[in-house]
Amino acid sequence: MKVSDKKTDNLIEKIKFFRVQTLKNIKPYSKEQLNKPVSFWIKKDRLLNEIGKEFTIILRTRGCNWALGETGGCSMCGYIQDANIEDVNANQIMNQFDYALQNKLDEIENDEYNYVIKLFNSGSFFDESEVTQQVRTHIYEKIAEIKKLKEIVVESRVEYITSEKLKEIRDFLKNKYIEIGIGLETSDDYIRNNYINKGLLFEDFKKSVQLCKEYGIGIKAYLLFKPPFLNEIGAIDDCENSIKTLINLNINTISINPLNIQKGSFVEHLWYQNRYRSPWFYSLIKCLKKSITQKDLKNIRLVSDPSGAGTKRGIHNCLKRECNENMMEILRNFVLNQDLNYIEKHYNTCNCRTKYQLQRHYC
Ligand code: SF4
Ligand SMILES: [Zn+2]
Repeated sequence: MKVSDKKTDNLIEKIKFFRVQTLKNIKPYSKEQLNKPVSFWIKKDRLLNEIGKEFTIILRTRGCNWALGETGGCSMCGYIQDANIEDVNANQIMNQFDYALQNKLDEIENDEYNYVIKLFNSGSFFDESEVTQQVRTHIYEKIAEIKKLKEIVVESRVEYITSEKLKEIRDFLKNKYIEIGIGLETSDDYIRNNYINKGLLFEDFKKSVQLCKEYGIGIKAYLLFKPPFLNEIGAIDDCENSIKTLINLNINTISINPLNIQKGSFVEHLWYQNRYRSPWFYSLIKCLKKSITQKDLKNIRLVSDPSGAGTKRGIHNCLKRECNENMMEILRNFVLNQDLNYIEKHYNTCNCRTKYQLQRHYC
């Protein structure tokens, strides 16, 4: 797959420059740190057909190959900060998983709610250089034993999603609903490859969707809300088109990630230069109202759990607490209940809406 041209080559050089600076500042992790995950938590979440809880574990691996290689990685991504480029061995990753599980197993087994387990490694779970077969099967065996874990989500770039990997996870987790998270970011090839540097064509995404369907495995497509070089209006249009395209493709879950400015990313550099502002909540809410109907939500799950919401780096309106809290509350309740009425009923506007209306065409 060749998506590079002169414009992207330029972007790649810039992304690589900032990545090299970041990598220089990463200190090696201690043995103790490598035996514990980056983080793990439990919180309320939307399961396929009910309100439940998520058990999320962020595993530390050697890092995303796309970010470590000649391509420099995606323009908004700073995940390489969590990686251990020196390598993390299989035992350490298994220990990370076991540590989180031991810590939370009692709580999960005694909870009235059902759970989705989300295994993230800030890269690709199916990339052998990050997570080996030994680690994958160790994790699958443990998950298979826990009845309360009804769903599992892992993430991968499409180049690592193969029949063998899908068959393996399907065979180990026969009674669970499995979803593969893919960072599609947008259905627009130009924005994805020229502004985000994702190195992914929509055609290849569709092939992976098809392959997953053959194994009875669902797809969770991540959409990046407001990629760099788009203003608020452009972001709403882009995300609306993407949501509609994914609905037509019968994707199982859409997860909208409003861009948050990550340390060491190229977008952080644009932000320091006042050439990028993280999205306004008003835009996201408008986009949701325009793009989906209650009928669509019978067949598709739409989720969004923005990182850094309400802060300068994350999605925000003005910086008044109550203004952002109202928006977060609306979003949280909409996601948990998959009910658009929440947005209509609880939407309060703040004085900053006038400023938003003036700025939305420019930044
Ligand atoms: S967004 Fe995903 S694919 Fe892109 S560099 Fe980050 S971890 Fe890699
Ligand atoms: Zn406000």
